[in-house]
Amino acid sequence: MSHKYLYKFILIGDAGVGKSCVLLQYTNKKFETSYNYTIGVEFGSQMLEIKNNLIQIQIWDTAGQETFRSITRNYYREAAGAILCYDITRRSSFVNVQVWLEDILKHSPKQIEIILVGNKTDLDKKRVVSYEEGKKFAKKHNIIFMECSAKTSFNVDKIFEDLAHVIYDKT
Ligand code: GDP
Repeated sequence: MSHKYLYKFILIGDAGVGKSCVLLQYTNKKFETSYNYTIGVEFGSQMLEIKNNLIQIQIWDTAGQETFRSITRNYYREAAGAILCYDITRRSSFVNVQVWLEDILKHSPKQIEIILVGNKTDLDKKRVVSYEEGKKFAKKHNIIFMECSAKTSFNVDKIFEDLAHVIYDKT
C-alpha cells in the first residue's frame, strides 16, 4: 500500500428514507426489517482500496436529527462527500431533496461531492418517483445519481465506492 487516506461522508435526507439501513447494509451487510429509531447506527467505517491506496471511509448518519434547522454546522464540516437520500415510494422525500441540497451547500466545504440516492428499489411496484426524474434532478445540479435498495443490497456498495473514486480522482 502506498498511502492511507481518510474520507468522511455524511448521510442526509428525510426521516424514514432508509439512511440507517443503507449504512447498516454497507458496513455490516445486514438489513433490519422493523422500523426502529434506535437502530440508528450513527457512525460506520469501512476500508476501500483505490489504485493501491488504502482509503478509510467514515460515515456519519443524521440519526434522528432530520429537522432541517437542527443539523449543526459541525456535522457538515470536513465532510468530503454527502449521500443525499430519498425514498422512491415517497414523493415528499424527493421534493425535500432540494431543501437538503441547499442546506449542504450552505454549510459544507465548497468542494464537497454529492451523490443523490433513490432508495427502496425493491418496492418498485409502489414507486412514485421515476428513475428519469432522479437522474434529471442530479444532472441539473451537477451531482452523481444512483438508485439502490438497502434491503436487497442492490447498488449499496457502489454508492460509497463511486463517491470515493470521484473524491480520489479530484485530489
Ligand atoms: P432513516 O430514518 O432514513 O434512517 O430510515 P431507516 O433506515 O430507519 O428506514 C426507515 C424504514 O424504511 C424502515 O422500516 C426500514 O426497514 C425501511 N427501509 C429502509 N431501506 C429499505 C429498502 O431498501 N427497502 C425496503 N423495502 N424498506 C427499506
